[in-house]
Amino acid sequence: MNCVSCDRPLICSSCSTAFAPKSEADYRAMHEPETAVVCPECAAPLVCRLCGRAYSGDEGEFGEE
Ligand SMILES: [Zn+2]
Ligand SMILES: [Zn+2]
Repeated sequence: MNCVSCDRPLICSSCSTAFAPKSEADYRAMHEPETAVVCPECAAPLVCRLCGRAYSGDEGEFGEE
């Protein structure tokens, strides 16, 4: 799964695990700025390791399309 911000593989900045949505709900949450996504490996709020994009549910400036 690619980061919606930098379009590179989305890797958790906390544990360096590549994030893969396990369900359709997870996948949708990735594209909804209001919905927080946590890493399934370390349970930390998901942050893109490459660009720093946070999927914490409180950033609304990304993901226009
Ligand atoms: Zn990114
Ligand atoms: Zn993690």
